[in-house]
Amino acid sequence: MTPSVPLPLILVVNCGSSSLKFTVLPVAGGAALASGLAECLGVPAEARLTIKFNGGKHTEALPEGTHDAAMAAILADLEKHGLLARIAAVGHRVVNGGERFTKSQIITGEAMIEEIGSSPFAPLHNPAHAIGMRAAFKAFPKLTQVAVFDTAFHQTMKPEAFLYALPRKYYRELGVRRYGAHGTSHRYVSGETVRLLGLDPHDHGVVVCHLGNGSSATAVVNGHCVDTSMGMTPLEGLVMGTRTGDIDFGALAYIAQKTGLDVAGLDKMCNRESGLLGLSELSNDCRTLTEAAQRGNAQAEETLDVFVFRLCRYIGALTAALPRLDAVAFTGGIGENSAYIRGKTLKRLSALGLDLDETANAGMYGGKSGIISKSQKPVAIVVPTDEEKVIAADTAVLAGLVEGSLA
Ligand code: ADP
Repeated sequence: MTPSVPLPLILVVNCGSSSLKFTVLPVAGGAALASGLAECLGVPAEARLTIKFNGGKHTEALPEGTHDAAMAAILADLEKHGLLARIAAVGHRVVNGGERFTKSQIITGEAMIEEIGSSPFAPLHNPAHAIGMRAAFKAFPKLTQVAVFDTAFHQTMKPEAFLYALPRKYYRELGVRRYGAHGTSHRYVSGETVRLLGLDPHDHGVVVCHLGNGSSATAVVNGHCVDTSMGMTPLEGLVMGTRTGDIDFGALAYIAQKTGLDVAGLDKMCNRESGLLGLSELSNDCRTLTEAAQRGNAQAEETLDVFVFRLCRYIGALTAALPRLDAVAFTGGIGENSAYIRGKTLKRLSALGLDLDETANAGMYGGKSGIISKSQKPVAIVVPTDEEKVIAADTAVLAGLVEGSLA
């Protein structure tokens, strides 16, 4: 009998400024074989790596506290579990690819890493991605490495959807426009929605609501994004954990004038002190607020009502970008788990023909996918997101490990 050849694997890396998340997925698709998170990088006393493998989990200290040290520790663990030699390519999540990167791409070398790392539109995220890429190249100098951009899916938006009504020179000279966010998730979830509902891949209109700490909603026509709620930065659009979402600049100018807050202060207030946290004065966490609302905390309930109202306003607005609304899909930590938020949202959307199925909605959490509306046109559906799967799939295609083309 010939010994079976172990299948090649993709290492998916999602590198932040103080963290490095990884997942090991089979090229052929299927469940992750290992995953982990290095956190508190930059703080040697606290830096640690937690790895999940085969149902088990262990944590080790990273006394050097660097991304390189984290990558070296991940490699050592993969070696220990017999996975290292099977890694055939590496895929990197990148938050912003600007207008330059409209599809996933092979990372050609230091010049491209430098270009990605110096993106002005994601100053917190992209430099960290570059650090992760350099660490991965050091660790796997011979492997193909691929960058998968969150903004790529939104690059099909037309100027009518991505231009701000600012003096045009700011777009021309500085690239100020809407780039969107969570594109890899919107791409996966819209594709899954079409597949699960048996919609025509070439004739559909879907609104995807990615609701987590950061939230955005996207209108998808025949597999292509035509509009999204996020803007140039992840501040615009829906109410988020600590971010305002849409806000009248005049209100900010007034606050600055009255309080003396400068631009940095306003930026911090809008990004870190607002949203669910700012309005509830209790928590940025949807679950905590839901529990508080259900115990009778009126301010928590009102905060969630604002979240839901803004979401409904966007679902309505995004529907206007579709030829027809076939489905509204919910994903992300809140979208996948909160029957409370989904229920309140769908009850407000009867004008769009949506009709909540209370029982189905109540049972949809913890990674389950399924329909939660009585209405069949449009349908409301829960679809757990899987960005790693998309990154691994694009990486496998670009590395020539499987046949096919990028979706
Ligand atoms: P991130 O944007 O950081 O990836 P997640 O997608 O993990 O965030 O979503 C985090 C949000 O999901 C939090 O507000 C959390 O309260 C919410 N969430 C998770 N589970 C539930 C639940 N069962 N009910 C309500 N909200 C939930």
